[in-house]
Amino acid sequence: MSKNNNAPYRLYLTEDQMPKQYYNLRADMKELPEPLLNPGTKKPVTLDELSVVFCRELARQELDNETRYLDIPKEILDMYRIYRPSPLIRAYNLEKYLDTPAKIYYKFEGNNTSGSHKLNSAIAQVYYAKQEGITSLTTETGAGQWGTALSEACSYFGIPLTVFMVKGSYQQKPFRKDVMRTFGAEVIPSPSNTTEVGRKILSEIPDTTGSLGCAISEAVEKAVATKNSRYVLGSVLNQVLLHQSIIGLECETAFKILGEYPDVVVGCAGGGSNLGGLIAPFMREKILGNKDTRFVAVEPSSCPSLTRGKYAYDFCDTGKMTPMARMYTLGCDFIPAPNHAGGLRYHGMSPIISKLYHDGYMEAVSYKQTEVFDAAVLFAKKETILPAPESSHAIKGAIDEALKCKETGEEKTILFGLTGTGYFDMTAYSQYLDKTMTDYIPSDDEIAKYTKNVIM
Ligand SMILES: *Cc1c(COP(=O)(O)O)cnc(C)c1O
Repeated sequence: MSKNNNAPYRLYLTEDQMPKQYYNLRADMKELPEPLLNPGTKKPVTLDELSVVFCRELARQELDNETRYLDIPKEILDMYRIYRPSPLIRAYNLEKYLDTPAKIYYKFEGNNTSGSHKLNSAIAQVYYAKQEGITSLTTETGAGQWGTALSEACSYFGIPLTVFMVKGSYQQKPFRKDVMRTFGAEVIPSPSNTTEVGRKILSEIPDTTGSLGCAISEAVEKAVATKNSRYVLGSVLNQVLLHQSIIGLECETAFKILGEYPDVVVGCAGGGSNLGGLIAPFMREKILGNKDTRFVAVEPSSCPSLTRGKYAYDFCDTGKMTPMARMYTLGCDFIPAPNHAGGLRYHGMSPIISKLYHDGYMEAVSYKQTEVFDAAVLFAKKETILPAPESSHAIKGAIDEALKCKETGEEKTILFGLTGTGYFDMTAYSQYLDKTMTDYIPSDDEIAKYTKNVIM
């Protein structure tokens, strides 16, 4: 086997080699994702309608299916340079352990304080909001990575931020809250008595640990009630995938330098933003017929939107305040069983990823949480990075691809996205190590119950 073993362990691009433009995959898709609908009129949302929710430039990006490349403003590039380019790492030691002819590469996005790729879009969203004179922002956070990323970006650009953090997570991850506060954000456990919707829920269920849907509703209420304020979202939306294309574009340049090209690209899929960003330039080559790369989305068995959901119009949030998107969904009222991969506990999926999957450009698999942690611990031991539970889904997917190569003897190049680190997820690791971690797979009846109301 003549494997290329000359690739460096970690390949960092120089600052000059960093992408200066975002890439909009929609411009090259043969068929576009279905448009967002106004839930009141059931007609495609207009730029004006969307500009009430998002600032104008982000609303424009959301609806722009034509512009292939968009210049990244200098101010955004300046902040990217603090923690980017992120390394493309060859998992030599894991390959050796698996005894596979495959080459395994991963793009590591955990090299910033948020511990995830979410900072890439947070910076862009805060920058454009500031440009338009928005003077404060609100958001929700479940697992905490998005809230942290946005806190970092808001402090950099000098915009006050209020984060509604799901109360259960606020109590379980107290240090997450303090990281956000260190960056100057106000962090409120949700439900809270600072909003009408929060007070209503508290009067009904005083000891509730909260939910993402409730936190979103509080954040939206506060943004709407505050002059010059906007609510921002960290995944699912077309604009977020656009910003995350920086991940894939850096990989594309790095592979050119190495003289290689991925045969398989694997990523974890919650709302689909890291995956959409990672695959963007490689999917373009597949759509154009130049390459035949396989793309694999990995999700938890407890929240299997692609593998078991319906391709239908649904709300993006549990509060039913956002426009409706046609996507693979488990129903916006679906409440996934407690799973430690907080960032993957989302009922829907990016409309772009959904469309590509629906049209056969991508595959999807789901794994149980214990098998994902088997992969996480193996990876930590071999590669020395403690992975986030979310990212570990991609690790598991990549390991399985590498083991298939071992059976067939194929020397494939596998690329996966290592979205972040797991330092704030030690409760999950404790449960895994103590063998008290459980697996939950929803029944067909349960899935049918929540998807029966979504419209096709
Ligand atoms: C949020 C998050 C994810 C999932 O979000 P996507 O939008 O699907 O990318 C994955 N990994 C980490 C570390 C996260 O914080």
